[in-house]
Amino acid sequence: MDFSSGRARLKQARLAGDRRELYPHSLQFYLEPPTESISLVEFESFAIDRLRLLKVVENLGVSYVRGSDLYKTKLESELRRLKFPYKALAEDDYEARRKDHISHFILRLAYCQSEDLRRWFLQQEMDLLRYRFHELTDSLRQKFLEHVNLSFEAISEDLKNELANELCTSTPGFGVAKVKEQMFYKVGLVDAVDLFRARRVFIKDGFAYVPFKEIDTIVLNNYRTKLSKALALTARSLPSIQSDERLQPLLNHLSHSYVGPDYSVQKNTGKIYLEQIDGISVKSFPLCMRQLHKALRDNHHLRHGGRMQYGLFLKGIGLTLEQALEFWKKEFIRGKVDADKFDKGYAYSIRHSYGKEGRRTDYTPYSCMKIIMSNPPSQGDYHGCPFHHSDPELLKQKLQSYKIPPSGITQILELVKGMHFQLACQKYFELTHDVDDIGFSLNHPNQYFTESQRLLSGGREPKKELNNSGNFQQKNNSQESMISNATLNSSNTTADAELEGLEAYFTED
Ligand code: SF4
Repeated sequence: MDFSSGRARLKQARLAGDRRELYPHSLQFYLEPPTESISLVEFESFAIDRLRLLKVVENLGVSYVRGSDLYKTKLESELRRLKFPYKALAEDDYEARRKDHISHFILRLAYCQSEDLRRWFLQQEMDLLRYRFHELTDSLRQKFLEHVNLSFEAISEDLKNELANELCTSTPGFGVAKVKEQMFYKVGLVDAVDLFRARRVFIKDGFAYVPFKEIDTIVLNNYRTKLSKALALTARSLPSIQSDERLQPLLNHLSHSYVGPDYSVQKNTGKIYLEQIDGISVKSFPLCMRQLHKALRDNHHLRHGGRMQYGLFLKGIGLTLEQALEFWKKEFIRGKVDADKFDKGYAYSIRHSYGKEGRRTDYTPYSCMKIIMSNPPSQGDYHGCPFHHSDPELLKQKLQSYKIPPSGITQILELVKGMHFQLACQKYFELTHDVDDIGFSLNHPNQYFTESQRLLSGGREPKKELNNSGNFQQKNNSQESMISNATLNSSNTTADAELEGLEAYFTED
């Protein structure tokens, strides 16, 4: 891809790049990367839309039975809303197909950067392909299979009749009538290895006889293998991507994937009293912040990562600078830090995080993705996301001590096992607030706090969203603002590093 910037370039690139012949099908395996010019504006807008889509795929995958009517309806509506191909039959959806193709490759770049990111991306892309493959008509499915070189040979009626008994006994759920009505394909064992292992197909002379309804397993396995390899290859080319100063901040921003409100400007500033914090930490703090608060009270100290994560969260919920100084000082001088040391070191870094020292940057509280994906805690640290960073057994004990019912703990641990950390946190919210449906998509600890307070004060239901894309909706839609947010976030990253350096200079851990 060639990346140019500016609206004029965008228009030019789109006009010059109309290549309908590249997309004979609405569905693709994304085998060839795009080669056309694309503006940075379009680059980011495509990527953010695909990220929204994949987040919805993730949410739906754990909230509904995949393939159920509700699952399909909700996913189709999101595909329509974001202007991705949603109906295989749609004739004139060149723009949607192009967006689908380019956005997949952009996220591939952003999500090849670590094992966790690759696994998440692969899972969501697989689910998306599964849904879209099922939506194809029989003839389009056949065409697609040929297009991706999976053109399996359908066996003749004569052969099917000849093998009818074997097909019935070897294919679970198939009686004589169903064998007659369904098409069977003769597939090489390499392609049908999963079905063969699960004893779901009839095998003869080195071929599996696969009913049409099982072909999707083969297609998905094939896609998984291709995409896994492609992600590993893309990861190897990371050094050259990282040297592009225009792309790297965008890609990092995408893989941390938070583009909602930054919670640095709070309407609540000054409305929280220090005496309230112990109480609200139990009722309205997400688990990560509840854990940090408890560790601070117990140890009268938090190490650097904890102070950063918790301090910015407290700032986001409304603590003024004066309150923050008082809060941290009171606690620290109960431990090993004397007042003088606090004033000379820690106080500076707190003022710094409120934008009152150094470059006077107003630092933003960390989003869930930032907490989950960066700076994992070591021994003696309490920061991070407990759903991701805690040992499952410890997490279970913690949840038990917080009186979460056993069935709820099982559900949370299942979500954690599937690496759906934010969804596990949503479940924790539902259980601790006694609501059936959280009604929003959780992306930020301060969002958790705000929604909890909204629910607890006034007893209103949590704000319902029209869809599961959550925080993205609250974002200014203009593409310029996306770019400036990305730039802002990337400059915050630089500033974060500066702050960390400063704090290391002024204080000990
Ligand atoms: Fe905190 Fe987000 Fe993890 Fe919840 S999902 S515990 S809010 S980091």
